[in-house]
Amino acid sequence: MPVSNTAINDIEKKQLNTVFRRLKRSIAPSCSGDDIKKINLAYKVAYEGHAMQRRKSGEPYLFHPLEVARICYEEIGLGPTAIVCAILHDVVEDTPYTLEQIVKNFGPKIGLIVDGLTKLDGMYNNFESPQAENFKKVISTLVEDVRVVLIKMADRVHNMRTLGAMPRHKQLKIAAETEYIYAPLAHRLGLYKLKTEFQDIIMRIQEPEVYEELQSKLEATERQRNKYIKEFISPLRETLDETGVSFRVLGRPKSISSIYNKIQTKKVPFEEIYDLFAVRVILDVESAREKTACWQFYSIITDVYRPIPERLKDWITTPKGNGYESLHTTVIGPKGKYVEVQIRTERMDEIAERGFAAHWKYKGVKSQSSVFDIWLDNVRDILDTSNSDALEFVNDFKTNLFSEEVYVFTPKGDMRILPQGATALDFAFDIHSEVGYHATALKVNNKLVPMGYELQNGDQVSVTTSKNQKPTEDWLKIVVTGKARSKIRSSMKEERRKQGELGKEALMRKLKSMKAPFEDNVDILVKHFETTSRAELFYAIAMEEINPSTDFKIFKVVDHKLVLKEESNPEKPIQQGDPEDTKAALERRIRKTNAKILVNGEPADTYGYSFGHCCNPVEGDSIFAYLTNWAGLKIHRTNCKNATNLLANYGYRVLKAEWVGDMKNNFIVDLVVTGVDSGIGVIQKITERISVQLGINIRSFSIAGDEGYFEGKIGVVVMNTDQLNQAIKALREIEGISNVVRIEKTE
Ligand code: MN
Repeated sequence: MPVSNTAINDIEKKQLNTVFRRLKRSIAPSCSGDDIKKINLAYKVAYEGHAMQRRKSGEPYLFHPLEVARICYEEIGLGPTAIVCAILHDVVEDTPYTLEQIVKNFGPKIGLIVDGLTKLDGMYNNFESPQAENFKKVISTLVEDVRVVLIKMADRVHNMRTLGAMPRHKQLKIAAETEYIYAPLAHRLGLYKLKTEFQDIIMRIQEPEVYEELQSKLEATERQRNKYIKEFISPLRETLDETGVSFRVLGRPKSISSIYNKIQTKKVPFEEIYDLFAVRVILDVESAREKTACWQFYSIITDVYRPIPERLKDWITTPKGNGYESLHTTVIGPKGKYVEVQIRTERMDEIAERGFAAHWKYKGVKSQSSVFDIWLDNVRDILDTSNSDALEFVNDFKTNLFSEEVYVFTPKGDMRILPQGATALDFAFDIHSEVGYHATALKVNNKLVPMGYELQNGDQVSVTTSKNQKPTEDWLKIVVTGKARSKIRSSMKEERRKQGELGKEALMRKLKSMKAPFEDNVDILVKHFETTSRAELFYAIAMEEINPSTDFKIFKVVDHKLVLKEESNPEKPIQQGDPEDTKAALERRIRKTNAKILVNGEPADTYGYSFGHCCNPVEGDSIFAYLTNWAGLKIHRTNCKNATNLLANYGYRVLKAEWVGDMKNNFIVDLVVTGVDSGIGVIQKITERISVQLGINIRSFSIAGDEGYFEGKIGVVVMNTDQLNQAIKALREIEGISNVVRIEKTE
């Protein structure tokens, strides 16, 4: 977003013109004369519109749209139309130039794309989550023209690359948005390079220290890696050359974020991650021979190095849902090291790097065209079925269209593709909504399974239906696909409506007997019982949550209207309390009184706040404050699991938070220790180290053992992260303890 208003000076004008000329020169070969005219005009419009605007960094704003255009062309592989749109992408939002003018001067196609790139304006206050609304808008245009999303990606990646000028809490918000929506979308569209870059920048913002540590370790080992790759390929080269297929070999270091991911999920140190890099063999071969050649290379490589059979993945025969094709295997390379090998052709490589955009170029090459078309059909499906709630839409979208797939079969052998994690009941709804509604028995590979059975690749699934079956609320917990969810939801709504009719009838009978006309009194009851609508009141009556014959005794009828009898003592309305209002939350609220936190530079006590027990922050953790609907401010760690969702969807509720100085606060942190059971003494050693030697209080302690292993949970009371790390370190040093993990959640 532009910030200041100093006009472009002469030097900057020269720089801008140079950048623009360079862009034009590189794209010229794929442009017609008309294209060039439009590009020139777009530059003129953007130049005039943004002339007085600057970015946070101080440079003229116009550099941004020009750079986005360059990314579109060079990094994503888009053509002239997209370049024009990229140059114009912020014009409607940030300058007086209107969409009508764009349509008039550039035509309806460019108008449509630029409109898709323009944020919803003005009415932000009407939306619970403007981000989600904007996202829904972008996706709606995606099905019309996928370039909207691709240009959006370029816009986002440039903003991420230039985040440095932003204050930290804004950086966190933008990083979270990117993590929540753009990174998975990039993955889904096959834009692997962008996805990796997103994830790396996100990590650099969220966990700068870890990022830098890993980065320097990677650099330190680079020469070693290059040497190893040479060693790996040299005994193969001759045989590979004999195939007559030309090829190149790359050693790809894993991205920092993916290494970090592995360290966390596998709980092993950097040094023990064997696949810090992959060897990529890229074949230059005509399309008819692609598959054969790749398998031939596989065969030659595995003649020399022994493969690990479970790690063979054939994404060539069955490409991933985002179009990715490649043959992957892991072999035991020189010095007994595990090495991941990726075999693919130049075409597959381009698709892997550029995804959707490259897919156009190769449209017509075997199955390529269909993967994205199927995906786009699914997007349309979700747009059609999801109701107007944008947040629900984003969630459906995320669970359904961002995840990897499982491939399952109907009894007749037709393949169906569902998102990973989909259940047998999802399958039923995928076949047809009627099959879903009435599903009673589900069989996988001829064995009866529960409805919630998680589908596995290759499963053959059959569904038995019964007319009397109908969806229940519980089904919503079983299914994961948006299609099934929205079908069940609308069926529940219908059911609720039907039930409500019964409630309404009962209410009418009762009011008639009280001689209180329905229309005059129904809203009085809605207000009294605090239901959100008439329909809710009817439903509550049908469900006997409100019982007219007993609950209406507190009323008398005056002038045909219900009024409370004076002596009656209406029950207190059920409190709409904080759902987190548990014992732990209470405890946390008590200790909040001594903790000192600054929110937006002011002492947080003025606002009243508590700690999220999803991540249980400790003094010293990097934190932010989130303004809740009901419980004032909640303090979360920036790497909290919920943070991404909060920051991405409710960024406007996020406030900067920091710890103040060295206060004597107490925080309770749960640690899980695992180890080899060395018999008696472990408990004693732990208490000795922690409470006697370090003087740290242990609040709770439980330990359980099984067949030589044990797992213990220790709640320690610490003042800050330093003390916590001290405790963790001390525990790790105890003989017999193999791992100590801080758990995010408290109970
Ligand atoms: Mn922009």
